[in-house]
Amino acid sequence: MRLALLGPPGAGKGTQAARICEAFGLLHLSSGDLLRAEKLKNTAMGKKIRDYIDNGRFVPDELMIGIMRSKLVSLVRQGFVLDGFPRTISQAKALTEMLAALERPLTQVINLAVDPAVLTRRFEGRRVCPVCLSVYHVDLMPPQTDGICDIDGAALVIRPDDMPAVVRTRIETYHQTISPLLAYYREAGLLLDVDASGGVDQVWMAIEARLARQGVKG
Ligand SMILES: [Zn+2]
Repeated sequence: MRLALLGPPGAGKGTQAARICEAFGLLHLSSGDLLRAEKLKNTAMGKKIRDYIDNGRFVPDELMIGIMRSKLVSLVRQGFVLDGFPRTISQAKALTEMLAALERPLTQVINLAVDPAVLTRRFEGRRVCPVCLSVYHVDLMPPQTDGICDIDGAALVIRPDDMPAVVRTRIETYHQTISPLLAYYREAGLLLDVDASGGVDQVWMAIEARLARQGVKG
């Protein structure tokens, strides 16, 4: 099994990727984790990545593709779940080419679709502790005392990224970039749509059911 997981920020990609990997013995390749690891290295590439991330910009396609290629070449014999990559149509096409060259094409692409209203609520309810960086949610994971960190008693804050106007822009931008990607994989017959508006367990059961219908066993 060689999967890619698509879904907006807040869809729970990381959590679901971890579950899929555990159930099917796959390797979790998170573009975010890979970038963070590269960023810490004292190399020319590490410095380049640091510049992009620290300035709040997306890492350009060629750089991201280069990092993925080096990882995939060494790990492609194992099954994997890609999380956060591809993010653009040119990344998707590059991925198709590199996996074709390795004779290990993607087997499925899972699209975690979330109702925009649900997504907005997930972000807007998020609270972060400025001291220990613990993340809470007013509905889904409330602290014991409203607005106070369970661990150190600090007052919780809303990250600038989670402010309503910013959230709306992020969700719109996501849908604009993702629609050609969905069309690309739908046309290739690889796309499995999963409703990810529910809780973690519910979404996981939906993914499992979709994969089972494809004849994939855990
Ligand atoms: Zn704290």
